Amino acid sequence: MRATVYRNVGEVQVENVPDAVIQQPTDAIVRITHACICGSDLWFYRGFDGWKPGWRMGHEWMGIVEQVGSQVRKIKRGDRVIAPFAFSDGSCKYCSRGLQTSCLQGGFWGGASNDGGQAEAIRAPLADATLIVLPPSVEGDDAMLKAILPLTDVMSTGHHAAVSAGVQPGSKVAVIGDGAVGLCAVLAAKRLGAERIIILGRHQKRLDIARQFGATDMVTSRDEQAVSEVLEMTNGGVDSVLECVGTKSSMDTAISIAYPGGAIGYVGVPHGSQTINLSQMFMSNIMLRGGVAPVRTYIPELLADVVAGKLDPSPVLDLTVDLDGVPRGYAAMDSREAIKVMVRL
Ligand SMILES: [Zn+2]
Repeated sequence: MRATVYRNVGEVQVENVPDAVIQQPTDAIVRITHACICGSDLWFYRGFDGWKPGWRMGHEWMGIVEQVGSQVRKIKRGDRVIAPFAFSDGSCKYCSRGLQTSCLQGGFWGGASNDGGQAEAIRAPLADATLIVLPPSVEGDDAMLKAILPLTDVMSTGHHAAVSAGVQPGSKVAVIGDGAVGLCAVLAAKRLGAERIIILGRHQKRLDIARQFGATDMVTSRDEQAVSEVLEMTNGGVDSVLECVGTKSSMDTAISIAYPGGAIGYVGVPHGSQTINLSQMFMSNIMLRGGVAPVRTYIPELLADVVAGKLDPSPVLDLTVDLDGVPRGYAAMDSREAIKVMVRL
């Protein structure tokens, strides 16, 4: 089969690799029909996090089940399924708390030992607990499938930021970052009833989507200038800050625009933001909550809204490639020409 493999900084290739095969009785083999390239894939692509040549790429995918192991009960051959970006057993002490990303038996797609999602097929461990079967009604509906695909990561991660920051009806919210996660965080805050949603970002095309998703105000300046603009327009700060970047300047901005007693929901993969101003948080009783999103917990409720036509994050997928086009897709995201790429197989 063919799969995307990391080769070097700024270089991924689509190569022939061994077919995905059942290894454990709880596995399923899925033929992939849709996948994504993610902003977090760019960290590896740009040479961060020590990715090694030959490692598999991709953690967002959807497809048709081709084979199941002898102990798989719920998932059937022929089912259309999506997967969260981590696999999990659904039964350990962490999964029981809805925190599948800490699963004792779980793991993440791609890398050294697991198949990646930017490929023709994938071995899905712990299939019964990990995979979600889509309703037959979505089969053949390309627009609907495109709206469902971001639930594998960015839409669920945006939702996690909103939930972690305690967004509720009437909330004043600020979203830091206009990438796919930031834009989905706007959509998530809107869905939870936020009254005012300020997005901090700089790319007009992305800010236009943010407005379409429900943003009420845009702030295009950065750092201190952005902080003073938000404090002025909100008369002292917001109830909830959704931090969707992961850098130090983004976290510093988040702490500075939270209203005393407010909360920050952070989902940006930390890069360079290892130190934060705890004294400033302490003095204003600012809460900090979040982390890697337990997507498996969120997909069922978000999926119901997508299928009902009440939620549509698909505008973040602004470039579509086939499997051979994946290297071009990475380059387009790296240069910010594309917000997020869909791979259609
Ligand atoms: Zn578990």
